[in-house]
Amino acid sequence: MLSELAGGVLTIGSDGFVTFANRSASALFPGPGPVGIQLLTFLDLSGVSNGSALVEATRSRTASAPIRIGLAGGRILDTRSCPLPDGGAVVTLLDVGLYIHEADLARRDPLTGLPNRVELRERLSVLLAEFQRTQAPFAVISLDLDHFKSVNDTMGHPMGDALLVKVAERLRSALRPSDILARMGGDEFMILQSDAAQPQAATALATRLVDLIGRTYIVSGQILNVGTSIGIALSPGDGEDVDSLLKHADLALYRAKTDGKGVFRFFQISMDEEMQARRLLELDLRSALAFRQFELNFQPQVELDPRRLVGFEALLRWRTPARGLVSPADFIPLAEQTGLIVPIGEWVLQTACRQAASWSQPVSVGVNVSAVQFNNARLVQIVTSALNASGLDPGRLELEITESVLINSTQSVLEQLHAVKSLGVRVAMDDFGTGYSSLTYLQKFPFDRLKVDQSFVGGSGDGSKGMAIIRAVTALGNSLGIATIVEGVETEEQLAQVRAEGCTEVQGYLTGRPMDAAAAAALAAESPSPTAVQGDPP
Ligand code: C2E
Ligand code: MG
Ligand code: MG
Repeated sequence: MLSELAGGVLTIGSDGFVTFANRSASALFPGPGPVGIQLLTFLDLSGVSNGSALVEATRSRTASAPIRIGLAGGRILDTRSCPLPDGGAVVTLLDVGLYIHEADLARRDPLTGLPNRVELRERLSVLLAEFQRTQAPFAVISLDLDHFKSVNDTMGHPMGDALLVKVAERLRSALRPSDILARMGGDEFMILQSDAAQPQAATALATRLVDLIGRTYIVSGQILNVGTSIGIALSPGDGEDVDSLLKHADLALYRAKTDGKGVFRFFQISMDEEMQARRLLELDLRSALAFRQFELNFQPQVELDPRRLVGFEALLRWRTPARGLVSPADFIPLAEQTGLIVPIGEWVLQTACRQAASWSQPVSVGVNVSAVQFNNARLVQIVTSALNASGLDPGRLELEITESVLINSTQSVLEQLHAVKSLGVRVAMDDFGTGYSSLTYLQKFPFDRLKVDQSFVGGSGDGSKGMAIIRAVTALGNSLGIATIVEGVETEEQLAQVRAEGCTEVQGYLTGRPMDAAAAAALAAESPSPTAVQGDPP
């Protein structure tokens, strides 16, 4: 009768040897079956995970709660053990997939056929339970593709999906049977690497994966390239439960991404602290507008020969009671990532236009606009209403954008730029010479001005090379009919050098540091054009 039961049944003798296995139980395992072998040995040989928990239960004199074990092929069994009067035990084995078939489907990623997040969490909890007995360390490896979004955006979702399938194949090919690979969603994958010496095994695997995933793909006859960034958390050191291990692997991944992508990083406790600090900063930043903690400084832009003030760049400052004055470098990136730059940028535009309209001389005002602000279709409307509310002549407003606005630029970004220009507003390319500095951007859009990045003036490297670049950019601007201004001039010597290279406008500490609104208004008032502006020593 036992032999016909749909569920698996084993009986274990008091010596730990398997004395009987019904047909269903034998069918679960390949080979000659368990009878006549010690249960522990058999489960070990069959590559079952968490098997030792079951063996322990068979030695107990009470009935066990369900113990979940994983078979080498990926099936999961719920097992129970009941003591027999002779000192042995009877073990029932139920294939989880048989009684929760639908739930099992919900554990697979339909695109790649890999386990999904639900299944991965469960496998991780099995590994953690096993750890109690084996004390064997394992690695939780979080992986995310670099630049996958641009493949999706430019080539379409079917191509993106086909690429993900190829990536999954490559990942699988690099793993051992005991490793568990899951797709967590989107372009995120996770690997559980057990049964290996850590951290060496994780280091070796991550190194291999960065190389393997980064190799060229051919999908539907098209050549595609992506890379991968990897974060690693180790059990037991980096977390004792599912959530903390996953979170820490993701924090390490986040660090790999911010460290420039295409690299792997192990979790470190400081990452947790930095993330907390970031969260606090974000909380403060969210309330900063309401608490009126922002102010604008204005830095003079000066024409040479003769020296005269031609405009100011508006530079954002954030002052809080707890933090003091926070530099834009420390909060603009976060504002961009969280989207907060949109309302903040709107405030900057309105305030800069209002201040400029109050100046007694019609000099221009430059306002920095982030790429994120261009994702918002309202940008043109925001600029228009800032101009209308302040009454500022549109010809006095200059938007400064960096090339990140034009990288992957969609038609809508270019349309917005043209719409802004047709209002009479000028558009400048900021930080020119850094990043990719592709000259095609100058073809894509008719810029009014190039702002040569300050690194070419001061810079850490060879000064003569910086000057050569300034000369080339100035000449380029001249022949394209685009004005140029050199940023970061701090000394008279640098000023003489850039002037010798053909530069006609500068913005730097030498000709004026960023100043508050009142000082800017006063400077504008005492500079009836054209008049020399006094150098402001650094
Ligand atoms: P940026 O637009 O290139 O602004 C010029 C930066 O160079 C300013 O730094 C300015 O104070 C600094 N600078 C000017 N002259 C000199 C000099 O002679 N020597 C040196 N060492 N530095 C000089 P700041 O104010 O810290 O702003 C940093 C960056 O933050 C800006 O670079 C801009 O990218 C961003 N930023 C500032 N305000 C805003 C804003 O309202 N919106 C957005 N989206 N970004 C802003
Ligand atoms: Mg700027
Ligand atoms: Mg700049």
